[in-house]
Amino acid sequence: MVGVDIGGTKILAAAVGADGVLGELVRIPTPAADGPDAILAAAIGAAHQAATGIGIAACGIGTAGAVDPAGRISHATATLPGWLGTDVRGAFEAALGVRTIVLNDVHAMAVGEAAGESGTVLVVAAGTGVGGALLRDGVLLTGEHGLAGSVGHLPSAVRDGRPCGCGGVDHVEAYAAGPAIAADYAVRAGRSDAPPLEAVATAAAAGDAAAIAAIDLGAHVLGAGLGAAATLLDPVAIVLGGGVLNLGDRYLSTVRKEVTANSLGETGHAVVRTTAWGPAAVVAGAARAAQAERT
Ligand SMILES: [Zn+2]
Repeated sequence: MVGVDIGGTKILAAAVGADGVLGELVRIPTPAADGPDAILAAAIGAAHQAATGIGIAACGIGTAGAVDPAGRISHATATLPGWLGTDVRGAFEAALGVRTIVLNDVHAMAVGEAAGESGTVLVVAAGTGVGGALLRDGVLLTGEHGLAGSVGHLPSAVRDGRPCGCGGVDHVEAYAAGPAIAADYAVRAGRSDAPPLEAVATAAAAGDAAAIAAIDLGAHVLGAGLGAAATLLDPVAIVLGGGVLNLGDRYLSTVRKEVTANSLGETGHAVVRTTAWGPAAVVAGAARAAQAERT
């Protein structure tokens, strides 16, 4: 089995054994500006590299965007320009010669994190964008258009008129995604450029008030949105993944506090935990989905 994660900034791939153990993670930048053919070629190259020296029985892909049952991209945001309509499954099956299953990246993460869990679980990935997925007793609830669980596009609790990657205004993602937090820090610190999110985390750890305020705002908006989602779903757990989680304990504790503060009664007591697979969560989940399809 090989799992591949096609994200807005990076592509990850790893071989995954039938026991679920991951091989070495291949990591390359996503050539997003070069268009869909270049992205597919890079992702297929990463899959080949991850599978060097072993046979591949099947392939699982987790990708940004919504995916139709034929493995084509049916909805895409500005994260990957031109990605809409791309036949991801067809390209991988032609190149690798094995059955390939294609899922939205957060759906893949959800399968990897909570396929064995009963009750309703909301899985959220905060990175370049903010995506979400729902499982009920281990089964993905994708909705009528594959968009169920898209918590990043709920209305934000803060409304400063910020544009969202989907074309809307003042959605959660416009405040809580990594680039949004970095851009907010740049404005607060009087910088002309937004630094990488790691630099914001480092500045906050050193007591920089602008960095702390930017991180707190992102955590507040995400937590308030998840509180609203908790009221609607009354989930057993909310699982958080994505690069924004690297902002550390202060970020996570603020998100937890806001979930409780912005939800109804016991719905706010859902366990808010971080992904068990860390950066490999989409890779592991995509491979698990491919494995499940074969058995
Ligand atoms: Zn949006």
